[in-house]
Amino acid sequence: MFLWNGELVEEEEIQVSHKDRGYYFGDGIYEVFRIYKGKLFEKQAHLTRMYQSLHNVKIKVQWDEHALAAKLDELVALFGEHDGYLYVQITRGEAPRTHTIPDVITPVMLGYCEAYTSPYSQMEHGIAAITVDDIRWHHCHIKSLNLLPNTLARQQAKESGADEAIFVRDGIVTEGSSSNLFIVKNGVIRTHPANHLILEGITRQVIERIAKSEGIPFESKAFHVEELMDADEVMITSSTREITPVISIDMKPIGSEKPGPITRQLQAAFNRLVDDN
Ligand code: PMP
Repeated sequence: MFLWNGELVEEEEIQVSHKDRGYYFGDGIYEVFRIYKGKLFEKQAHLTRMYQSLHNVKIKVQWDEHALAAKLDELVALFGEHDGYLYVQITRGEAPRTHTIPDVITPVMLGYCEAYTSPYSQMEHGIAAITVDDIRWHHCHIKSLNLLPNTLARQQAKESGADEAIFVRDGIVTEGSSSNLFIVKNGVIRTHPANHLILEGITRQVIERIAKSEGIPFESKAFHVEELMDADEVMITSSTREITPVISIDMKPIGSEKPGPITRQLQAAFNRLVDDN
C-alpha cells in the first residue's frame, strides 16, 4: 500500500501531475525512516526533522504532525514485521511553471514502505571512499529533494570503484553524499558541527548519545581533509547504512585498513538499541 495525500491507496491510484513543482524544481522535501522488524526506529526524531524541513522551505502541509504520524503508523502496520524503510516525500504542489509560489497551493504527499536489510558485509569489512568537491548550496541542513550534487558525487564514487563520496568544502570535510562522517583520532570521535553545511543525521544524533553513554569523547568540530587521511578510524552513518567503516580513501589506507575498535564499540551499542527498539 501507498500513502497518497493522506489516504492509503494501491499504487495504480497514484497519479503525479506534470505540473508538480517537485517535478520542475525539486520543490519539496523527503524523509527516510528505518524500520526494524516492523517498527519505526527513532520515529519522533525523523518526524521532527521532516517538519523542520517543511518549515525551512515554507511548505505548509494540511496534516499536523500527530495526524501524519498516525497515518504513517497505519502504513507501517500494513508492511508487517519486516526490516525495511519508510520513504515519505512532500512537494509544494501543482501549479503552472513559474518560479514564484502561488498564494494557494496544496502540497502533494507520497509515502511507502520498502523491504531492505542493512549492508552487513560492508558494515563488517568496511568500504572504500573518494573525496569530492562539496559544490552544494548553503542549506544542506534541509532534507530537500534537490539531490543532483549528491547523486553525481555518488556516481563518481561508483565509477572509481568506491562506495561513498566524501564532500570537502574549502579543505574542510563536511559529510558523505548520503551519510554523515566521523573520524577517530587518539580515542576522540569527531564530526562536522550540525550547521547549514551538513544534514544533521538521525543516526548522527544516536552516535552522539552512544558516545556519551559509552564514555567516548565526542567533538562536533570541523576538521581538514589532512586530518581525515591521518585518522585512526573513519566511519559513515545513515539510517540505511547504520555505522559503516571506511578503510580507504582516494585509494590510500585509513589507519590499519580495518574497522577499528571504536567503530566496533559503536556498532555493538547501536545493535543493542536496534534490538531494544
Ligand atoms: N547526510 C546526507 C546528505 C544524507 O543524505 C543522509 C541520509 N539521509 C545523512 C547525512 C544521514 O542521515 P540519517 O542518519 O538521518 O539517515
